[in-house]
Amino acid sequence: MEKDTLDPWGTSAVKNYERLQSEFGIAPVGPLVKRFKKPSPHMSRGIDFGQRDLALIADAVENNKPYAVMSGIKPDGAFHLGNKMTADDMIYFQSLSKKAKVYYAIADVEAYADNGISFAESSKTALRNVADILALGLDPEKAVVYKQSEEIRVMKLSTIFSKGVTNNMLKAIYGERQIGLYMSALVQAGDILMPQLPEFGGPKPVLVPVGADQDPHIRLTRDLAVRYQSDFGFIPPSAVYHRLELALTGGYKMSKRVPESGFTLDDSAVEASRRVRIAFTGGRDTVEEQRRLGGRADVCPVYDLYRFHFAHDDEHVKLVYHECTEGIRLCGECKQEAIGLVKGFLEEHHKRRDSLMADAKELLARSRKYLMSAGTQ
Ligand code: SF4
Repeated sequence: MEKDTLDPWGTSAVKNYERLQSEFGIAPVGPLVKRFKKPSPHMSRGIDFGQRDLALIADAVENNKPYAVMSGIKPDGAFHLGNKMTADDMIYFQSLSKKAKVYYAIADVEAYADNGISFAESSKTALRNVADILALGLDPEKAVVYKQSEEIRVMKLSTIFSKGVTNNMLKAIYGERQIGLYMSALVQAGDILMPQLPEFGGPKPVLVPVGADQDPHIRLTRDLAVRYQSDFGFIPPSAVYHRLELALTGGYKMSKRVPESGFTLDDSAVEASRRVRIAFTGGRDTVEEQRRLGGRADVCPVYDLYRFHFAHDDEHVKLVYHECTEGIRLCGECKQEAIGLVKGFLEEHHKRRDSLMADAKELLARSRKYLMSAGTQ
């Protein structure tokens, strides 16, 4: 069987999540779900499939201890559904405790290395991206947002880490890549470990919610945390992994690099509806076959829209799955319902996001002030 490769910068896809767990040592989320009083929709719908040391976060929540949730966005365009997945996890884990703090990095170094986007251009995109996460529910009182290129501690850590890795180590994790991408991986390790520096309260559990394809960054950072444990006391970061959403154009991964494969939170309701209307489905060739055999929800990106984002609740997801696989619903009506949900969401989101632009600016300014004064008192 063909092996899945994990490429955080590519369009690689995952076909077999169980195999991924055994190959890369990712543990299942299932046994830990009961430790969270109100599991997130990602947990209850099996979207978060894997984890590393998630128990440390459950311990911190139960014992009212501080922990950090670390995530970021590459400012290479509008917020897309993949960014929303990570943001949803981040917001959920932030909401579990008063002692939780989100560190959100604008990955402008990576945007430059991977996409050639200037730092000035990144700045403009970043503001809108921050307004998007606020509109999705981020609590700004428990969040710090910063640009990688401006955070000197991240840069210092990545310089220190660059002494501890060899070309061969990076090649083994990422394959042969340009130096800029290796550098951005070390910068990202700096992002993930920064919340454990003394000026932010010292070593603590840090959770990184990511898509399965980002695991190479987690493995590298955990390795670096162990290598530099005696210097900084780092606790290897925890991670929770979500499944990758199927592409509307068919294929295993919706990707920002293939715009038609999904849509962004900037797209108009009309444009997003068009993409859903022409989307690939798991339907059969004829109505008669679909009624007799049922649809294939497991390979259907329209079903993923319900399951990952837009269903009213878990019961609604179950109903769609049941009606599809039993041949009760047909693809045309199913798409129509999905379009209604997508439209409703986008119209509401646009309103909320536009009303939060000033708050996004304020959060960035407040974060900059906080980071500048951290460690100087
Ligand atoms: Fe997909 Fe809906 Fe068709 Fe089932 S009925 S295959 S979920 S579009």
